[in-house]
Amino acid sequence: PGPQMPFDADKKTLVVLGSGWGATSLLSTLDTTDYNVVVISPKNFFLFTPLLPSVAVGTLNPRSIIQPTRYITRHKTRQVSVIEAEATDVDPINKTVTFMDNSEIKGNVSATTISYDYLVYGVGAEVQTFNIPGVKEHACFMKELADAERMQREFMDCVETAAFPGQDAKEVDRLLHMIVVGGGPTGIELSGELHDFLEDDLKSWYPELAGRIRITLVEALPSVLPMFSKQLIDYTESTFKESKIDIMTKTMVKEVKENAVVLQMPDKSIVEVPCGLVVWAAGNKGRKLTQDLMAKLPNDQKNRRGIEVDDFMRMKGASGIFAIGDCTATSYAPTAQVASQQGAYLARILHQMAKTDELEHRLAQLEALGRGVSSGTEEEQKKLKDETEDIASRLQKVKLRPFHYSHQGSLAYIGSDKAIADLPFMNGNFASGGVTTYLFWRSAYLSTLFSLRNRTLVATDWLKVKIFGRDVSRE
Ligand code: FAD
Ligand code: NAD
Repeated sequence: PGPQMPFDADKKTLVVLGSGWGATSLLSTLDTTDYNVVVISPKNFFLFTPLLPSVAVGTLNPRSIIQPTRYITRHKTRQVSVIEAEATDVDPINKTVTFMDNSEIKGNVSATTISYDYLVYGVGAEVQTFNIPGVKEHACFMKELADAERMQREFMDCVETAAFPGQDAKEVDRLLHMIVVGGGPTGIELSGELHDFLEDDLKSWYPELAGRIRITLVEALPSVLPMFSKQLIDYTESTFKESKIDIMTKTMVKEVKENAVVLQMPDKSIVEVPCGLVVWAAGNKGRKLTQDLMAKLPNDQKNRRGIEVDDFMRMKGASGIFAIGDCTATSYAPTAQVASQQGAYLARILHQMAKTDELEHRLAQLEALGRGVSSGTEEEQKKLKDETEDIASRLQKVKLRPFHYSHQGSLAYIGSDKAIADLPFMNGNFASGGVTTYLFWRSAYLSTLFSLRNRTLVATDWLKVKIFGRDVSRE
């Protein structure tokens, strides 16, 4: 599509949509000599989501947890085309993708369509609001980098506004009431981080206000963190109690207003709670692009949770489309762990497919030659026959292995230098919580960060906060 695209007509074109966990893991493992590879994503970087809540309270610098996609592709043997654009349409029949430049600055071309032989669809998911009134307008999300930056700004704005001279007591209490909606891991980790910020920094920066800051976590289900074991749920709840974070279970947010949330309490009564900030961490749903793509294959794609794939990550009902990560509906949880394993798996499968294509191509050549060399010498005919038989037998042995997920365990930070971990251990589960687990959490995340550059940046940020505290200035 552009002057930079390296194109070899003998190779198939592989288009990758997204630059998140699935796509980045795929790109890291992919042998780019096999295909003409094009990556399309509206973000020209990878975001390390597990550390996003740390950005929201200023522990980490936003730039420390992102990595430009070109940082990976530039080390590849064969050049990859990286395009910062949003895919707006996938045509699974004609095998094309249409995409547009949705950034502020545009050239004279800002939308185009390209063809693919294979498409890796890894566009993730978007925030689920359940169409609850006021969520989009008044709540902060915790999904993208910009969400964390916005939350940090708004949180500090609430604190600074509460510090404005003459603010009446009721208004100060409203401004300093932070409500986190959703008791999944995102809501829990964010509440924990908010509490740390309060304890470690705000108490000394805003001594007159800190004691009045309240954090409330609202969860519709009877308990938080349903994916963790009962023991760790109890541990989290008691840690939150000690940290004075209120957990309201069996309570559903019905509306978000500019200065309050409307809650449906366990006894079904409706209560309006004044607050300064609402963070919406109530789960995800499929993107419109995904819904539109699925609607084009109505007989095979009926799952409301996302794209249905077979054991090889192939989208059911489509030819040449693979789907990975949060946009799929599988038996696995929508996690980074799953998406990255699927990405790496798919890179290996695509390599195997390229090798198979090569063999098939060579076999066709040999068969054509064989038909023409009946007059060749006996030695030539034998050589040809041997090679043909060798390739045919290698082709017969090619067997694509289905995707197999290997669960490495669940980890979550719960604040106060404590983390919880459910780790698979000797056919059972090992549950652990506390400060040691927190150190394990830190080292696990540090080692999972893709590059030495990011590891250095994150470690330096942690050290800076230890020495100087978090930065409370508001951009
Ligand atoms: P994403 O990583 O979301 O990537 C999707 C990509 O597609 C993005 O690059 C996006 O820009 C791009 N895209 C979007 N629209 C388009 C379009 N129209 N065209 C082209 N590209 C598009 N999981 C864990 O396992 N452990 C954790 O500790 C953990 N912590 C988390 C903390 C937070 C705050 C959040 C929000 C999530 C966390 N997760 C965690 C979940 C994890 O981030 C997701 O499961 C994971 O990101 C899914 O990977 P993905 O590649 O499917 O999607
Ligand atoms: P989630 O879907 O796991 O949790 C959202 C919660 O919000 C649910 O418990 C739901 O009952 C609640 N909720 C929804 N609507 C509500 C309402 N109106 N009022 C009150 N509560 C409401 O979402 P998440 O926490 O963002 O996690 C998404 C995925 O990312 C999960 O698969 C999770 O495992 C993964 N993740 C993992 C980690 C980790 O391993 N540390 C961290 C973050 C996210």
